[in-house]
Amino acid sequence: MIVRRVETDPGYEVVVGRDMLGRAAEVLPPAATSGRIVVISDENVAPLYLPPLRAALRGACSDVTEVVLPAGEEQKTLARAEELYGVLYERRTTRHDTVVALGGGVIGDLAGFVAATYLRGVRLVQVPTTLLAQVDASVGGKVAVDFRSGKNHVGTFYQPLAVLADIDTLRTLPAEERRNGAAEVVKYALLMGEEMLTPVEAALGGPEPAGAHDPVGLCDEQIVAACVGYKASTVAADEREERGERQLLNLGHTIGHAIEAAGGFRHHSHGEAVGLGLAAALWLSQRCTGLGPDDAARGERLLASAGAPGRLDDVDADLVVEMVSRDKKASGGEVPFVLLAALGRPVRGVHVAPELLVEVVAWLRER
Ligand code: ADP
Ligand code: ZN
Repeated sequence: MIVRRVETDPGYEVVVGRDMLGRAAEVLPPAATSGRIVVISDENVAPLYLPPLRAALRGACSDVTEVVLPAGEEQKTLARAEELYGVLYERRTTRHDTVVALGGGVIGDLAGFVAATYLRGVRLVQVPTTLLAQVDASVGGKVAVDFRSGKNHVGTFYQPLAVLADIDTLRTLPAEERRNGAAEVVKYALLMGEEMLTPVEAALGGPEPAGAHDPVGLCDEQIVAACVGYKASTVAADEREERGERQLLNLGHTIGHAIEAAGGFRHHSHGEAVGLGLAAALWLSQRCTGLGPDDAARGERLLASAGAPGRLDDVDADLVVEMVSRDKKASGGEVPFVLLAALGRPVRGVHVAPELLVEVVAWLRER
C-alpha cells in the first residue's frame, strides 16, 4: 500500500494498493464512515465490486445504501444528477454523510458533481476502478457533467475526503480501457523523465501493433502511485487551475481534445486521442522547444508499446485545427501549448504558429 498526500485545502490522501476495497473501513478517515454512506456505481462495476466494498464499509458504518446507474458517458448529464439529488433527498442525506463514487471516470465525475453541489457539498470518497481514473481523473478535485456538445462543461473543483485506488480492480477491465489509461501513463513518463521512463518501458515491453497491445504491466502499484504523486504535487501547486502549474498535465491534450471533439467523441477514445496528441507534442517539441531526435524517437516507441494509434483516421484535419482554437483553456484565441525541451523537462505557455499546427495535423494523418 502506497499513500500519496494531496496538499490542497483541505488536503487528502490517495491510497494505492491491492485489496483496498476489502480494507476500506480501516484505510478511510473516520469522517468518511461516521455518517451514512451512499455508494454510486454503474451496472458493470457494481456486480464485481459493490459486494466486497459494501461488506467492508459495513464494518465501520451501519447505514450503507447504493445506487447503480447504467454505464457510459451518456450518463453524465444534469438530468442524471437531478435524479441522484432525488435519491439523496429520499435517503435524508446530510452534510455529515458520504457519497462514495465506485467506478471509472464517468461515475467519479457525476457522483463527484452531485456530492459537490447537493446541500452545497456532502462528503465524497472516490474509489476509481479504471486505470485512467486511478492515475488521473480521481485526483485533483475536478467534477463535472457534460452539457450540450461540451464535455465536462458544467462542473466545479471539489476535493474528496480520500481516494482509494484498488489495483486489483484493474484486472477485469477490458484491454481497450487499459489502453485508454496507458496513454495517460505515457504522458506522466514524458513529463517526469528517466525516473518514470525506465519503469514504464520495462512494464510495457517493446513496440506492438497499434491497438493490439494490452498494457497490463502498467496496472501496478508503484506505477499508479508515481503518476498519482506527480499529479498530486501539480494539483497542490495550482488547485483551481489559475496559476499555470496545472497546465503541465495538459501535455498532449490540446491536440488530443481537439481530435476527440472533431470526431464528435465517437471516433477516438480519450486515450487514443491523447496518444495522437502526445505524438503531435513530440513533433512540435522538436521544432519549437529543441527536443532532440533521440528523445522524440524514444517517446514515439513508448507510445507504440502502449498501443497508441499510429495515425489520425476518420477525422477532418481542418476541423481538428479549428477545435484547437476553441479549447477551454484558450484565451483571446491563443492556446498555450505544453511541449518538451527534453524528456522530463516540460515547458508551458509555448506559442505554436497556426501554419505549424496545420502541418502537425497533416503529419498525424499521413505518418
Ligand atoms: P473512464 O475512467 O475511462 O472515464 P468509464 O467510467 O467510462 O471510464 O468506464 C469505462 C467502462 O469500463 C465502463 O463501461 C465501466 O462500466 C467499465 N468499468 C469500469 N471499471 C471497471 C472494472 N474495474 N472492471 C470492468 N469494467 C469496468
Ligand atoms: Zn487525459
